Amino acid sequence: MKISELGEFGLIDILTDLTKECKQESNRNILIDSGDDAAAWQNDSAVNMVTVDCLVQGVHFKLDKISWRELGWKALAISLSDIAAMGGNPKYALFSLALPGETDVDNVIDLYKGILELGCRYNVKVIGGNISKAPLVFIDSIVYGAANSPDIMLSRSAAKPGDEIAVTGYLGAAAGGLKIVKSDLPLSGEIKDTLLRAINKPLPRIEEGQKLAAGGVKCAMDISDGLVADLGHICQASHIEAVINIDAVPVHPAVKTAFGNDALDMALSGGEDYELLFTAGHYIIENIKKQFDCPVTVIGKIVAGDNYRVKLLDRSDNTYLPSDKGWNHFGK
Ligand SMILES: [Mg+2]
Repeated sequence: MKISELGEFGLIDILTDLTKECKQESNRNILIDSGDDAAAWQNDSAVNMVTVDCLVQGVHFKLDKISWRELGWKALAISLSDIAAMGGNPKYALFSLALPGETDVDNVIDLYKGILELGCRYNVKVIGGNISKAPLVFIDSIVYGAANSPDIMLSRSAAKPGDEIAVTGYLGAAAGGLKIVKSDLPLSGEIKDTLLRAINKPLPRIEEGQKLAAGGVKCAMDISDGLVADLGHICQASHIEAVINIDAVPVHPAVKTAFGNDALDMALSGGEDYELLFTAGHYIIENIKKQFDCPVTVIGKIVAGDNYRVKLLDRSDNTYLPSDKGWNHFGK
C-alpha cells in the first residue's frame, strides 16, 4: 500500500504501535509520549543534551543503495553519535519524516524497524515525531541525552597545548563504502560488506564516549566530516593548533586492501566514520587504552598557535597535503 492511500494518521498509528512494542527501561520517566502535541518526561539528570541531524535523499543517500531498514538505523545512529561525542547517555528520540505519497507503507515500517533496532540496543525510546508530504525523502532525527555532572562531559573547546590527539577504531571505511556506492566498484565478499556496512549501518561509540568522560578526557568530537576537517573544528573551538603524524593514522585494513595508495587520504578526509576524536594528557590516554575493547591510537599532539590549523607531517617531518579536505556542505 502507498502512504497516499493509507494517509498520515493511519501511518502514525502503525509507527506508534511499533514504538510501543519496544519495552525499555527509559519508559519509566515518560509522562506522555507519541499521540499528544508534545512528549513529556520527568527530569532525572544534572545535565541535559539535545542534538538534531538529518538525512536527505540525493544528498546523503540514494534509495537504490541503502535499504529502508539501514536508513532508519543510520538516521538514529548519526544523532546518537553526537550524544556519544559529548560523553552523554542518549535517552529519547523524535523523528520528523518528509515522504513522497508514492512511498510504500512497508518501506516506512522497515525504516522504523531500523530505528527501533538501534534504539532498543541503547535503551533510547522513540517518544514522538512528525510526518509531512515532500517530493523527496527527508529524515530529521532529534535525540535527547543526559550526563550526571557537568564535570563528566566532553566538548570541542577543551583541548590544551601538550595534549595528545587520539582516535577510536579505524578510519576510512565509510569513505570506502561511499566509493563503492558511487562507482559500482568491482569488489566482492567480506571487504565489500565491511565497507558498505560502515557507510550504511554505522555504530555510534556511546559506551566509549561515556568512558572517555569518566576517565578524565575533556575534549572530544565524533568524526562525521573527516579527521582533518573535524580536528580543524576542535582547533577553532579550543584556540589551539594540531599536528598529525600521518604514519600513525589507523587506516582501516579493508580500505588499505581495496584502495592501496588512496587509503591514507580516505582515512584523513573521508567522512561518516563516526569514530571518536579526542585529546588528553599522555597518562589519561594510556589508561583509556587499557579500558577499551576497540583500538585507541595516538595520532599527534596539540600545540599552541593562533592560526587554529591542522598540520600533517610524514616521518621525515615534511608537510603532507591530502588530496581532499573533507565534507563541507555547499563547498565553501
Ligand atoms: Mg558531531
